[in-house]
Amino acid sequence: MSERFLSGRTALVTGATSGIGLAIAEALGAAGARVAINGLGSAEQIEAAKQRVGAAGAAEVPYFDADLSDPAAVESMMAKVQAWSPPDVLVNCAGVQHTAPIGEMPAATWDRIVAINLSAAFHTMRLALPGMVERGFGRVVNIASVHGLVASVQKSPYVASKFGLVGLSKVAALEAAAAGSRQSGGVTVNCVCPGWVETPLIEPQISARARAAGGDREAGVRELLREKQPSLRMSLPADIAATVVFLCRPEAHNLTGAAIPVDGGWTAQ
Ligand code: NAD
Repeated sequence: MSERFLSGRTALVTGATSGIGLAIAEALGAAGARVAINGLGSAEQIEAAKQRVGAAGAAEVPYFDADLSDPAAVESMMAKVQAWSPPDVLVNCAGVQHTAPIGEMPAATWDRIVAINLSAAFHTMRLALPGMVERGFGRVVNIASVHGLVASVQKSPYVASKFGLVGLSKVAALEAAAAGSRQSGGVTVNCVCPGWVETPLIEPQISARARAAGGDREAGVRELLREKQPSLRMSLPADIAATVVFLCRPEAHNLTGAAIPVDGGWTAQ
């Protein structure tokens, strides 16, 4: 199987202007796909992301602007994506976090986190999945979290949205399971569930622990890992991207409805 096994295919990656989503877009480009990206950021950040995905090997890297907390914006983005090319691969990676006890969690923060982490994935899937089923090939990979499998304190909307994303993905996997054939590649829907990954998303949590350790960032990282992640190693965004690429391979046609932990043993405990 060629390393460019996604040649001739297209992908849409949300949250691809930073962190894990950007690494996934690069890896799909390296595998031969034309990769549409979405995500927030300055014009410079968006241009830098496009350059990186192109340099990785994507022949085309259109950017589709949309604040995914707004269902109408998701719908209008998906119409533009479909006009470019109905995506063969859909990766829902955009996500946000806010930590506070339930009693102190602002109601608007709950609404925003659930809208971005869960409802946006429902909207992209409801608009992209029927085309995949019709064509007999498709890969949906939703970036959930260990927090889609187990809970932690102070993360009520995040944990609720990620558990919801795992459930939503299983329903979609069942509905699409019989589409296509071994030859066409089939349609699969899975979640990848990372533990700690070095990205801007977790910086506030590192900083809080670093402050408690007298300002030592490395001590903050060690404390974060010691609490939950037995490997005591962070994942890199590229490590998560490698799992996503595997799920897109033809031989993964029967790997569907799964929530795959990449968490250094966090959820084995
Ligand atoms: P990140 O902050 O580096 O990237 C988040 C991306 O989502 C950015 O591109 C951002 O622009 C985009 N985004 C945020 N709000 C958006 C909105 N309203 N509309 C459109 N795009 C929006 O974070 P990351 O760590 O790369 O997170 C990516 C995904 O991985 C998230 O779903 C997160 O929950 C998940 N995750 C991260 C970790 C970790 O340790 N970093 C662990 C488990 C799961």
